Amino acid sequence: MITSGKYRGEHCIFVAPEWYPGAGSAFDANAYLQSLAESYVTALQIYIKDHHGIAYYNTQVGKQSSYMKGDLLADVVKAAKEHGIQVLAYYSVGWDNWVAERNPEWLMRTPDGEHVKIGLWTYLCYNSAYREYMLAQLHEIAQYKVDGIWLDILRYPQMGFRACFCDGCRQKFLDHGEAEMPRSINFRDPVYRRYVRFLEHTLTSFLQETRLAVGSTPFSFNGVGFLTPKKWNEICDWNNVESHAPEHVDQSYKSRYLSGLRQPWEILTPGTAVGWTTWTVKPADTMKLELAITTSYGGTATFGSNPPIGGDTEKPNSTMAAQRQCIRDAYSWLKDRSPWLGGTSYRNGNVAILQSISTEVSLFGGHSNGGLDQDLFRSTKLGEPLEAYPREVILDSLGFHRSLLSSDTQYEIINEYSIDRLLGFDLVILPDQRWLAPEVVEKLRSFVRNGGNLLATNRTTLYGEDGNVKNNFALSELFGVDYLDLSLCDVHYIDMIGRKLANGLQETVTPVRQPAVKVKAHPGTDILAMLRWPDSQRTQSRFYFHEGSGPDHRTPALYPAITSRVYGKGRVIYIAVPLGREYFVHHSLTASQIIRTLTAQVSRPVAASSHPRRVEMTLMHQKEAGRLVVHLINHYTTEIEPFLEADKIENLRISWDKEYLVACKGGNWQKVYLAPTNIPLTVIEREGRCEIEISRLDIHAMVVFE
Ligand SMILES: [Zn+2]
Repeated sequence: MITSGKYRGEHCIFVAPEWYPGAGSAFDANAYLQSLAESYVTALQIYIKDHHGIAYYNTQVGKQSSYMKGDLLADVVKAAKEHGIQVLAYYSVGWDNWVAERNPEWLMRTPDGEHVKIGLWTYLCYNSAYREYMLAQLHEIAQYKVDGIWLDILRYPQMGFRACFCDGCRQKFLDHGEAEMPRSINFRDPVYRRYVRFLEHTLTSFLQETRLAVGSTPFSFNGVGFLTPKKWNEICDWNNVESHAPEHVDQSYKSRYLSGLRQPWEILTPGTAVGWTTWTVKPADTMKLELAITTSYGGTATFGSNPPIGGDTEKPNSTMAAQRQCIRDAYSWLKDRSPWLGGTSYRNGNVAILQSISTEVSLFGGHSNGGLDQDLFRSTKLGEPLEAYPREVILDSLGFHRSLLSSDTQYEIINEYSIDRLLGFDLVILPDQRWLAPEVVEKLRSFVRNGGNLLATNRTTLYGEDGNVKNNFALSELFGVDYLDLSLCDVHYIDMIGRKLANGLQETVTPVRQPAVKVKAHPGTDILAMLRWPDSQRTQSRFYFHEGSGPDHRTPALYPAITSRVYGKGRVIYIAVPLGREYFVHHSLTASQIIRTLTAQVSRPVAASSHPRRVEMTLMHQKEAGRLVVHLINHYTTEIEPFLEADKIENLRISWDKEYLVACKGGNWQKVYLAPTNIPLTVIEREGRCEIEISRLDIHAMVVFE
C-alpha cells in the first residue's frame, strides 16, 4: 500500500476535546479532501479516536463526539473515494482519558500500585477489559471500508517501568503457570525476564486479536519495524516509525534499518517545528529533505497536520493553512521525482551494520515496548539520562552509522532476520552485539571463512540469551582473542603503539570514556593498538582538570585494544571498547577517524564524492525500468530552516567503482542523466571508476544510469 513517491501521506491530528464548546464541529469532509487532492496528498491518516477517548464516528461502544455533525468517518471515506485518496483511521490505544476516568481498574499500575503516567496521559492496560472495548471499536471502524487502521501508543511504557503490575496482569501471569509476579524491576532476575516475555506476548496476542477484529483491513502501529520482534512485523501490513527533523542522521539510520526488512514502510514526522505540539510550521524545504532521505531508501515520510480545535481545516491564516502550502510544495516536488522512486531492490551497499534483536532480548528479557520511547538520538542530544533508555548498545551502532555516513561508505543496516543476505557484503560490523543466536554465529563464521570481513566491538557475543556474561566470546576463534575480564575504569586510552594504523593515527594515545574488555590475543593475532589505564580514577580527592589524569605510562600496556586476525579467506578486526558510542556520545573525532581507517582496510571504497560531509549518496535499483539511480542528498542544515541559495553545492564530483555499478544494475547502461531535470551527464571512465560532475545540487537530485 505504500509505494515510494506515489504514496504521499498527511497525518491529520484531529483532536476535539469535549470541554471545548463546539469542538470539531466546523469540520467539512468535502472541503478538506478537495484541499488534500489539490496538495497531491494520496493518503489521509486521520484521528478517529484520540487520546481524550473521543470517537469521530458513529460508535455503539465508546464516547462519540457530542459536536460531530453526522458521521465524520463516513463522510471522509465518501469524499476520499471521489478523489482517489486512501483513508487510514488513527486509533489511540494506550491513552484514552474518557475510558480511564470511568474505569480506573483498567489502568496500568506500577509495583507500588500507582498509575503509570506520562505528562497528562495515563496508560491503560491490555490485560484488562479495555482490550475488549478496543477490539469492539476497531471492528466498528473496519466496517467503514477504510484503507487501513493506524494504531498509536501500543506499548508498555519504558521510562523506568517497562511493566504493569495491575490485577489483570497478575492474574494472567498466574494463568501462564507462574507462581507470583516479580516485586521489583530487575533485568537479571529470571522471573522478571519471564515477566517481560509475558508482556511481549500480551502485545502479540493483542495484535493477533486486532487482526481478527478488523478482518482484511490493513493495519499497523506506531513503532513497528525498528528493533521489534519479527512476529509483530509480520502481523502488521507495513512498518511505521517516528523520526523527526532536524535529526536527519537518525532518519537516515532508521531508513536504512527499515529498508532491510523488505516490507513497505513510512517514517512519521511532524508538520510543525519541533515536535507535535508546537504551532510553528515546518518549512517545505525541511519536508523535502526528509522526503529525499526516506524515498532514497525506498520508503517515505508522512507529515503531521494540525487543524484548529474547531475542526475547520480550511481556516485562513491558521497553522493548518500554512501547512497546506508547505505540504503542497513538498509533494509537488516529490511527484516530479516519482518516476525514479519505488520499485527498487534492496542491494544498496557493500558494508553492513548488524543491529540484532537478540541483543535486546539478552539485555532485557524480551520486548514490551513497541517503539516511540526508542528515540535515543534525540534523548542523547538533549542530555537525558541514558539509564532511562537502557539501550546503550544502539549508541555504538549510531556512532558507526554517523561515521560511515560522512565517508561515502555504501552500507546497510541489517538484523538477524536478513542474515542470509550476508554473502553480498565485503564487511559486516557488529557494534557491541552482546548476544547472537548460535545459528547467526555459525553464519558469520562461514561468511568470514569464505572471504567476508568482520569488525566487532566490546562485548559482542560475550553474553548468553539469559543476559549473563559467559566465559568467552562465541566468536573468540574469529576474533583471535580470549575474554579475561571487564574493566570498570571511567576512561581508557587507546595507544597506537606507533604502527599499523595509517592516516596519521600513529603514536596517538586517545581517551575513550567507555568500559573496556580485557582480552588475551591468540598466537598469530596481529595487535594494532593497546589499551592503557588512567594514571588514577578522577575523584574528588584526586581531581584533575581533564577527564582522567592521562594514560599511565609507568606500567606496561598488557591488553590489546584493537586486533586483526585472518580466518579462512577473510579478516576479523576486534575493538575492545565501544568506539562508535565514544564518537556518538563524546564527539571523539579520533574515534571516528579510527572507525573510517579500519573500515577502509577491509572494504572496497565503491563510492566517493567531493563533499562527503554534506552529501549522502545512496544507490537504488529499479529493476523493471532497467535503471540504477544514485541519490544525492544535500544535508544543507542540522536545524529546521529553509534552503538558501548559499546552501547549494556547486561542481559536485562523484566517482563510483564501475564494476560495482554494473553488478548492481545487472548490465551496462546506454545513457546517464540527471533527474528530474533530464540533463545528460558525461561519464569519465578512469582506472575502473566512473567519474561524474554535477554543476549544481540543491536539496536532492538523482544520477540515473539507464
Ligand atoms: Zn496490567
